[in-house]
Amino acid sequence: MRYIDKYRLRIQAHHINVRFLKDCYAGDINHPCPSPDNPMGSFEDFKKKQYRESNNYDHGWKNLLLEEQDCRCCYCMRRLNSTAGKINYEHIIPRECKGDEGLNEYSYYASHAPALHDLVEMADVFTMKKFTTQEDIEQEPKMPHITALANLAAACNGKRNSLSTYGCCCNNTRGNKRMMPVMLMPDADENVNYDANGILTITNNDGTLDAIIQELNDDTLKEVRAVWARLCQVQIDLTIVRSFSLRERIEWFKRAYHVTDFTSLPTEVRRYAGEITSNGSDFYWNAYSGGYPFSISGDIRSVPS
Ligand SMILES: [Zn+2]
Repeated sequence: MRYIDKYRLRIQAHHINVRFLKDCYAGDINHPCPSPDNPMGSFEDFKKKQYRESNNYDHGWKNLLLEEQDCRCCYCMRRLNSTAGKINYEHIIPRECKGDEGLNEYSYYASHAPALHDLVEMADVFTMKKFTTQEDIEQEPKMPHITALANLAAACNGKRNSLSTYGCCCNNTRGNKRMMPVMLMPDADENVNYDANGILTITNNDGTLDAIIQELNDDTLKEVRAVWARLCQVQIDLTIVRSFSLRERIEWFKRAYHVTDFTSLPTEVRRYAGEITSNGSDFYWNAYSGGYPFSISGDIRSVPS
């Protein structure tokens, strides 16, 4: 996990959110359809192509979220493929939250994440507002949490170790449970740490992160992070490694592990170079290259800004 800056593209995000809401209020300014506080209908309509899809992140929110997150899952940092349809959209404040309990939850989330405080409000609170014209919506600084892009993050939606299997693998046990919004907290990069064995810890965990920490410390992800921690010890420009040929990757791995014979490395290391795959593709390399967010705490902070 790393910090996701929801302010950098806030104007573009606000524009997309407002465009959707204006359409909802277009038929009857007093009775929006779907209502912004409808947890299913509102978000399902917001997912329609005219709001979600566009090559330009000014006009389509899927690419806006990917741009904010450098095309990585907000939890496991796996590279997300924008065309493969394997993206899950996470509501940081769960979309079913409402009423007094919803306000209580909002207080918790907003107290931790400035972007939720500044750019999001509970959808049922938003729905109580009365507008004279659709243009009035443009003046609203906070968007309803069910569709507010500041409350959404892109996560992977496929098994980590296969190209062809489906099913959410990150945070799939959360439901509506409260979870500290680490990725929207500006100090996330200091508090989320990885050691040389790939084990993730979050220093300011208030207990609500126990389940996701456990999920993110599964064996595959620890293996990925341990390999990248080793690779990062080689002085190299991490911004260019995505374009490495197989030969260049192998040379990099040999330097990182101090071996002259690449084949002497164990399979679970070699496969991340893209040399060994069951189906002839570079699955491991493509899914995890650019894994440089996994810098080791207190050691190398070789993360490009
Ligand atoms: Zn993930």
